[in-house]
Amino acid sequence: MNSSGSRRTLTDPFGRTVKSLRMSITNRCNLNCIYCHNEGDYGSTGEMSVGTIVNIVKAAAEFGVDRLKISGGEPLIRKDLEEIISALPPLKDVSLTTNATLLKGRARSLKEAGLDRVNISLDTLDPGKFRMITNCKRDILPNVLEGIDEAVRAGLTPVKINMVLLKDINEAEIERMLEFTKGYKGDVILQLIELMNFKGAAPYHVDADLVEKELLQHATDVRTRIMHHRKKYIINGAEVEFVRPVDNTEFCANCNRLRVTADGKLKPCLLVNDNLIDVSHASPDELPGLLQLAVSKRVPFYSHDTYGQEK
Ligand code: SAM
Repeated sequence: MNSSGSRRTLTDPFGRTVKSLRMSITNRCNLNCIYCHNEGDYGSTGEMSVGTIVNIVKAAAEFGVDRLKISGGEPLIRKDLEEIISALPPLKDVSLTTNATLLKGRARSLKEAGLDRVNISLDTLDPGKFRMITNCKRDILPNVLEGIDEAVRAGLTPVKINMVLLKDINEAEIERMLEFTKGYKGDVILQLIELMNFKGAAPYHVDADLVEKELLQHATDVRTRIMHHRKKYIINGAEVEFVRPVDNTEFCANCNRLRVTADGKLKPCLLVNDNLIDVSHASPDELPGLLQLAVSKRVPFYSHDTYGQEK
């Protein structure tokens, strides 16, 4: 039951109830990764004010949406991130996805503001490969590693390491990354992500079935998360999650998130751009109806069509 005592939910025409928001708060980024999907947000230059962000989250919370993932661009570029987080209504889970280059010196203030945990993008522990993937000439991998340490110390746990698998670049590095995360004794979890084809990155795509087979061979236990039906493998006592968004009907069938672009548009799906609902100037009274409208436009991108085939 939500705070108003009603049982209203945001349920789409396919029976999927939205429980989480994935909100971009800026399109600016200090890295330029070779494959970045930029949360499907192209060309928007404006940024929502703290008030607009909070109004959207509050309106969604009234429908029982109790999880928020803050993304970007690089969300830590915004100096008012702590202000945003501390103004949010009570939620079950507030997390941030970040490249962590700017996390050192801020993890504690983010925790104090109410942030529960962070996902940190780290595809490789090799400085040369890191520079290549991120298109960054400076050697900032040490900043990321310090950011991870500080996030753990501040209790932004479990810290999830987002590692996008890239053919001939980091596909052979899973074991090393697993060893790295194991060193944090449960405070850091490895999350492998199948590459989606953005910025012409298709040649780097790694066969997810092969990766899964390999993980299965080494796992002592396998669990399935409700969110996107993601698989979790327990290997040598450490947890590895595998996110497979490509051509995955189960991923879409279990998707419970609504996106918000940096300039304040509700976005029903990462991969669809012609059904956005602008809420950047919406009043608190207008927001519930606009949220319902956006959710009514949610269609599983990968689905079994009427002929029983997958698209
Ligand atoms: N700058 C922040 C970061 O690095 O986490 C937030 C934005 S980034 C777009 C959010 C997440 O999307 C990162 O973990 C990144 O690895 C993932 N991502 C970006 N492009 C992707 C792609 N083409 N396929 C799969 N995951 C991708």
